[in-house]
Amino acid sequence: MILLDLKCSADHPFEGWFPDSKAFERQRRKGEVLCPVCGSSEVEKALMAPNVTTSKRKDAGRAEQTKAAVMAALTQVREHVESNCDYVGPEFAEEARKIHYGEVEKRDIYGEASDDDARELEEEGIEFGRIPWLPRAEH
Ligand SMILES: [Zn+2]
Repeated sequence: MILLDLKCSADHPFEGWFPDSKAFERQRRKGEVLCPVCGSSEVEKALMAPNVTTSKRKDAGRAEQTKAAVMAALTQVREHVESNCDYVGPEFAEEARKIHYGEVEKRDIYGEASDDDARELEEEGIEFGRIPWLPRAEH
């Protein structure tokens, strides 16, 4: 036996037990399935609203997980950079140039660069990476 969520042509929701869905279709075609509210024999299976809700919730959960994974990866990058590179702040472009042209000892640095700085460094063939920087969590 299966329990089906049904509704009639006037949108009255009701439930019915049937041996299986084929039996329901057979009875429905013969007009044997009647709406208990209005007696209409024009009935159909109702949409399973709870399933729709569940899958939406699952998608939202996945999006949250993805966001959490990205945040974790960015935090790792930040920690790696902070412990392995010298912070030069807004002097990044200048320092990168000095290192590139051998004016100072080669070392790994990080700091802030404007879009103009970044474009100039690229034009001069100076290698650098850009990472999305997360604001440090305030405690
Ligand atoms: Zn009805």
